[in-house]
Amino acid sequence: MAEANTPSPRTMPLRVAVVGSGPSGFYTTEALIKSGQPVIVDLFERLPAPYGLVRYGVAPDHPKLKQAIQVYEKIAQSPQFNFVGNVTVGRDLSVDELRHAYHAVVLTCGAEADRRLGVTGEDLPGSHTATEFVGWYNGHPDYRDRVFDLSHEVAVVIGQGNVAADVARVLAKTVDELRTTDIAAYALDVLAESAVREIHVIGRRGPAQAKFTPKELREFVELADCQARVNVDELDLNAASEAEVADKGNANARKNIALFQKFAQADPADKRRQCYFRFLKSPTALFGTERLEAVELETNRLSGEPFAQSAQGAGVIQTLDCGILFRSIGYRGMPMAGVPFDERRGVFSNRDGRIQDERGVVPGLYTAGWIKRGPTGIIGTNRADSVATVEALLADVEALQSSGAKPGADAFYPVLAERGVRVVSFSDWEKIDAAEIARGVPQGKPREKFARVEEMLSQL
Ligand code: NAP
Repeated sequence: MAEANTPSPRTMPLRVAVVGSGPSGFYTTEALIKSGQPVIVDLFERLPAPYGLVRYGVAPDHPKLKQAIQVYEKIAQSPQFNFVGNVTVGRDLSVDELRHAYHAVVLTCGAEADRRLGVTGEDLPGSHTATEFVGWYNGHPDYRDRVFDLSHEVAVVIGQGNVAADVARVLAKTVDELRTTDIAAYALDVLAESAVREIHVIGRRGPAQAKFTPKELREFVELADCQARVNVDELDLNAASEAEVADKGNANARKNIALFQKFAQADPADKRRQCYFRFLKSPTALFGTERLEAVELETNRLSGEPFAQSAQGAGVIQTLDCGILFRSIGYRGMPMAGVPFDERRGVFSNRDGRIQDERGVVPGLYTAGWIKRGPTGIIGTNRADSVATVEALLADVEALQSSGAKPGADAFYPVLAERGVRVVSFSDWEKIDAAEIARGVPQGKPREKFARVEEMLSQL
């Protein structure tokens, strides 16, 4: 029988730690709060600023996508929500410490690393990941001090997904097209001096397999001083690609091909910059003595069934001189001490959001978002994914609560202070937010971000 002053499992609030305050963290929080289950959610974030990839990944010239933040701000107003910012789980607090203090821990820390090309010269100065460049122009503290040398006329982007489109578009735009966005001022200064005239966006497979969404590709039609171009010979499709394009469910490929055909007919003369979309080419080596000077590309041919075609080198090699190269070939999750990791897929080992090791499910440990399923889909895709994880968690609620009441974050404030960590609450963040917005006003920008953690903390 429960003692008189012990809350019964039915009224005892479920204490949940969510780790990572990007879209998946907020959608997980929302699903928990909306479930009707008495719950208190502590949302842990390693930076003082919330919103993860919406703040630091979405391109500055895509303000509509950032409107998702308004939804997250609403969720944050719930009395069942508590933000624990500037705390790195895995460093300031271990996953095991969290597991002791909560009924459940949901890891939603995204995919922060990059896939590797695995070619000679990949780490030469001048060869960067898209992540570094995107983080830099978006004011991410990890990338604030990166240096991008745009003094050469040719830039190369490897990969044909939406991140590659973002990188190419930011390189292609004039300063006037970016000036009133929330792009970091220091990045705009460097882009203003850019000598880049040619951007080559290179896909290992063909135009039918490019992963751009047509909306993103169409933006290249509207650039003020950059002409999108395609070599018409590269638009030839093999039979399997024709079948892919004809498939009822593949409207994106048809729209992309129509745009590529338009680019192939473009008049090259009238714009200062040219952005070439190139297909069936893989980088086989990057060359340079002290820094990148050229990329070697091998022409590929496709083989396999429709929707399962892979690229094989056909032995035809060409060299493209370039001064900077961005590898935009997909993200990868990073392991965390105490959490089973699937090395092959770069995600936490899980079944339907329940984290598991070789012995089975790890009680009380869950995951959602890119670190659960891999780096695919748009922001909204993570809502359904988070809801599914929360359904699994709630199905386990009886077992989770069998160990009695849990203290949640209250257990950690003294420990974190002892460890020298300045915890940032949501009202602290609101002060930083207001200061960023005020800084943007004189420049006509929605905000000027603080790109250093110390700068953010100095607002408090
Ligand atoms: P992605 O869509 O998976 O694209 C990765 C690209 O890299 C593909 O073209 C892929 O080609 C290529 N690639 C992979 N390995 C390669 C290799 N070894 N050599 C050469 N090329 C290689 O990934 P992403 O662009 O990083 O985007 C991640 C997710 O975020 C996507 O779901 C994307 O739609 C989303 N996103 C959305 C927006 C937006 O909505 N505006 C903006 C940014 C990102 P294969 O097809 O041959 O594998």
